[in-house]
Amino acid sequence: MENDALVDSLELLVKLWDVHGINEFKAKNLSFSIRGLDKFPGMISQLTPDQLLLIPGVGKVIVQLIYELAQTGTCQELEEIVEQTPPGLLDFLKIKGLGAKKVRTIWQELNVSTFEDLNVACQNGQVEKLKGFGSAIQTSIQSQIVFIQENRKKLRLDKAVFLSDRIAAMLNLSFDQIAISGELRRHCEIITSLIFVVETDDIFGSQSKISEILGFSEDLQSSSPFTWRGFFEDNLIPIEIHLVNTSEFVSAVFQHSAHEYHLESIDFYQQSQAKTILTEESIYQERNMPFIVPEMREGLQEFEWAGQHKNYELIEDHDLQGCLHNHSVYSDGKNTLQEMAEACRSMGLHYFGIADHSQYAAYAGGLKEEDVMRQHEEIDQLNLLWSDFTILKGIEADILPDGSLDYNDHILSQFDYVVASVHAQLTMDLDRAMDRLIRAIENPFTSILGHPTGRLLLSRPGYPLKTHKILDACLANGVSIELNASPYRLDLDWRHIYAAMDKGVFVSINPDAHKIDGLKDMKYGVMVGRKGGLLKALTLNALPLNELKAFFKKN
Ligand SMILES: [Zn+2]
Ligand SMILES: [Zn+2]
Repeated sequence: MENDALVDSLELLVKLWDVHGINEFKAKNLSFSIRGLDKFPGMISQLTPDQLLLIPGVGKVIVQLIYELAQTGTCQELEEIVEQTPPGLLDFLKIKGLGAKKVRTIWQELNVSTFEDLNVACQNGQVEKLKGFGSAIQTSIQSQIVFIQENRKKLRLDKAVFLSDRIAAMLNLSFDQIAISGELRRHCEIITSLIFVVETDDIFGSQSKISEILGFSEDLQSSSPFTWRGFFEDNLIPIEIHLVNTSEFVSAVFQHSAHEYHLESIDFYQQSQAKTILTEESIYQERNMPFIVPEMREGLQEFEWAGQHKNYELIEDHDLQGCLHNHSVYSDGKNTLQEMAEACRSMGLHYFGIADHSQYAAYAGGLKEEDVMRQHEEIDQLNLLWSDFTILKGIEADILPDGSLDYNDHILSQFDYVVASVHAQLTMDLDRAMDRLIRAIENPFTSILGHPTGRLLLSRPGYPLKTHKILDACLANGVSIELNASPYRLDLDWRHIYAAMDKGVFVSINPDAHKIDGLKDMKYGVMVGRKGGLLKALTLNALPLNELKAFFKKN
């Protein structure tokens, strides 16, 4: 079992014990051990019980349980308690601000265990009357129920890529030519349906052929003779498989992957009927229009962009020279600085920027002044190891509520660059958010504005911003704006990249990696960056090291 999955299961177990109000002592013990396990760099499943006991926090009371789970992927105690828990309560645990204890209160006092009943209880004002709740929590619960229910059937880009690759591989066993279409081909940050186009010379026989593949279940009511609709395994996201013959294939892939607005803007339906299209290029050529890459076909600003730029100017994975904004065990990362840097180097990159959390972020092990000095000494030592690779001294400094950064100027001046980010007190109206961010951008030590809106996709909306003004301030102050490439964030929203390009603001594709595996997230940044017209020439971490250093030395 992978470490992350193990930690998730253990966290669930602790919560369920608390929901049921049992095993208080074991729950405490297990919570403690989770902290140590979460930081453990090796494969936990390879450890014996005696070795597990050496991990900080792991006690004798729960070591067998952890061992069983790590070895088998499950354990009896977890299975039993999941069985005894109404499934709706697991949903309640997803509501922010409702810890296990509050979920227990709702369940015990109101006898409520589904979203529907919880919503009614909120409407009747029963929830606010519970001890420790109040009207603000009740209102928050109601709006989160709506949010969670709406988002259930949607997937983040990374999950959608993973799932659609699996589905395509299954389809490939029965069909020769399959194209992943829909929102995924457009690299949308959130995917609401998975769409495939399958070539076949037996359209009517293919419907049942798909339904016979293990894991596929057809929704007969919404399927039609040319389109199989249904679900794959227990995923809630709807799946659409369009069945076409060879001569229709290119046209169908184009039609089912471009946004309706894009199709309208090129008069696709009027001109393309009853004609075999051999290549997507020919669709644009016939109309005397520039070729638009699939991910940009949204019906937004793609043609204006194409009037000024060529497609080869778009950022590509291999253009990236290095990687800024990453964490290590100095703060809340899981790998050491050296491990992270070596991994970055082995990806063929030339520089690695460490940007651990700053002191204000105590919850994330933020660095005190002495930690910063210790880290800088280590970086100086490590930098002697390579002639072709450099570690840069960065920091992810918290933007405090008044817009200042949380180190004094003396410390800030020791870094090669500063990523300034908001992590606390995220609930702000437009005026407060703008004042706070503009002040941070104007700080002479700020180099990059981190995850500009603070959003977490499918989980938390960002605070409101006037993005044009933020971009103007970035330009005026020599600050780059981050495209946080974690698929949980993808923030700056790609819709604003067009404006950043127009204004000449550098965008930095930052993985915000907390472990080696996280470095790969840069690919999602490239995917959505291209979608918004991100140019290689204005991608900060596509700059060679000397130019990057010059950018950081602006002041
Ligand atoms: Zn951050
Ligand atoms: Zn970060």
